[in-house]
Amino acid sequence: MSARGIDARALCRYLRLRPVALIVQKYGGTSVGTIDRIRNVARRAIATQKAGHDVVVIVSAMSGETNRLLALAHQAAELPDARELDAIAATGEQVSAALTAMAIHQEGGRACSLLGHQVKIHTDDAFTKARIKTIDGTRIVDTVGQGLIAVVAGFQGIDDAGNITTLGRGGSDTTAVAIAAAIGADACEIYTDVDGVYTTDPNVCPSARKIERITYEEMLELASLGAKVLQIRSVEVAMKYQVPVHVRTSFSDAPGTWVVGEEKSLEDVVVTGVAYDKGEAKVQLLAVKDKPGAVATIFGKLAAKNVSVDMIIQNVSTAAGATDVTFTVAKTDLTRVKPLIDEIARDVEATGVRYDEDIVKVSIVGLGMRSHAGIAARMFELLAGEGINILAISTSEIKISCLIASRYTELAVRALHDGFGLDKK
Ligand code: ASP
Ligand code: MG
Repeated sequence: MSARGIDARALCRYLRLRPVALIVQKYGGTSVGTIDRIRNVARRAIATQKAGHDVVVIVSAMSGETNRLLALAHQAAELPDARELDAIAATGEQVSAALTAMAIHQEGGRACSLLGHQVKIHTDDAFTKARIKTIDGTRIVDTVGQGLIAVVAGFQGIDDAGNITTLGRGGSDTTAVAIAAAIGADACEIYTDVDGVYTTDPNVCPSARKIERITYEEMLELASLGAKVLQIRSVEVAMKYQVPVHVRTSFSDAPGTWVVGEEKSLEDVVVTGVAYDKGEAKVQLLAVKDKPGAVATIFGKLAAKNVSVDMIIQNVSTAAGATDVTFTVAKTDLTRVKPLIDEIARDVEATGVRYDEDIVKVSIVGLGMRSHAGIAARMFELLAGEGINILAISTSEIKISCLIASRYTELAVRALHDGFGLDKK
């Protein structure tokens, strides 16, 4: 990397001057939601620079703006063209990047806004959910090397044909982490509307605590279980390139949560967090003919239609050579999936199908599970202690999930949270 900023840092180290760090700060929609807040962001970025660091700011669209733009698109066309959707959605970030650069000037600093194509954020051509392929950090590094704060529009990129693309909802997180990786930043600060990652949802469990440090792997599990603090892709990129991520709020100076590699995680706990997800529905195929290929037919046909399945249970077959097959799919997929499931039921000679949408998946996540036995048993005990029936179970190396009736969500989350000692520091 031809990194003028990095050379400066090397020079400082050599001369034993105050260490210069290269800091990426990403400000979410709430942090740039009004002009006043954008001014606050400008002051923060300037203060970080004055402390002797090189600063790259990534901004989201002002809060509500992306929704407003997408709603407009859907007024213009019932099924808007994906390429044009991205062309409109990307404007939200263009506005906030320019406003932020202006506010930095206004506050006495120097800044330059940069859009996805100017930074050369190259993505594939999967409009509305593009993935970053490469980033050329030169323009950013040159900008900060000249003493400017680089303000980059999040969420957007260009494909090989030069079309504007966007990275999926919440994609500015991924822009920030990927840029941090590309320019070798020392840290990526994500300013969001919560002040860190919590042991569970504080709205459900009053004893939830802010986590000081969490590993990439745990964060990935929590994010895929429905914790919406960071876009999942951004955690994958952070893990791949070992970018230390600091999730925090722009409304105070309080430290938030560091998302880091395993060797840097502090808390020696077995369970790190409790998550719940109400987004799934249970499907039960009754008395499927129990013969080789039945399950392959069921899930093959679902996969062919791009339906993701989460939990799967197949019961022991009865004397009559039949077995129930139960699985969960996203509730948002259910309407489109029902006719397909009816067809599948006929193929595998099931005697019927049952749907249940009043369910929730509660999960415990923690790296410590790898080295501790009996965690699953303890989870089942805690749920049983509240009289909660478990409908399905799934496990991974660092996660255990139980499907239960949704009316028990709060009771289960609190019992697991406090039962595993997460209420105590
Ligand atoms: N503005 C985009 C969204 O609302 C991207 C982001 O904020 O991360 O999803
Ligand atoms: Mg976000």
